[in-house]
Amino acid sequence: PTPQALDLNALVSDLVGLSDQRSRCGNCKVMLDLSEDLPRMSASPSELQQVILNLVNNAVDAVGSDGGTVTVTTRQDGQDIVLLVRDSGAGIPQANLNRIFDPFFTTKPVGKGTGLGLSIVYGIVQKMGGEISVESTPNVGTEFMLRLPIGEPDE
Ligand code: ADP
Ligand code: MG
Repeated sequence: PTPQALDLNALVSDLVGLSDQRSRCGNCKVMLDLSEDLPRMSASPSELQQVILNLVNNAVDAVGSDGGTVTVTTRQDGQDIVLLVRDSGAGIPQANLNRIFDPFFTTKPVGKGTGLGLSIVYGIVQKMGGEISVESTPNVGTEFMLRLPIGEPDE
């Protein structure tokens, strides 16, 4: 996966706009809150796609079919781009918070979850020199925050 000058907002819009995402979402809404003057970043499109899809799919799963909101936010913070994926879903119990990035950790029924999504996300973020953190409140929702270096997209 070769890094290139990547427009994260365009990638997010393309992925979240996919009809697949909407049907999976059912009753819920996926909202975008994208910074208007986000710089391009040095990143591999296929890797960032995996990151976004895994986080958004998890958020959609968490919101379930009773309606609710998933919000994807982008902004610049100094030399980093911050990507937030927030949902109004069931939340993550405190006891699980330090296990969610482990390979094969899943709370989903057999066939629905492999438990690999977040471990893949974690690996990609580490490789990019970024950071990922999560805050979750049961019955209120969850927010994943990614901090990714902009790098030198023009080289
Ligand atoms: P999978 O989605 O296949 O279960 P992941 O690695 O993507 O595997 O996620 C691991 C677990 O972390 C999920 O099974 C779920 O328990 C928890 N999780 C991840 N994202 C969320 C979220 N947005 N809300 C609630 N729980 C989550
Ligand atoms: Mg998943």
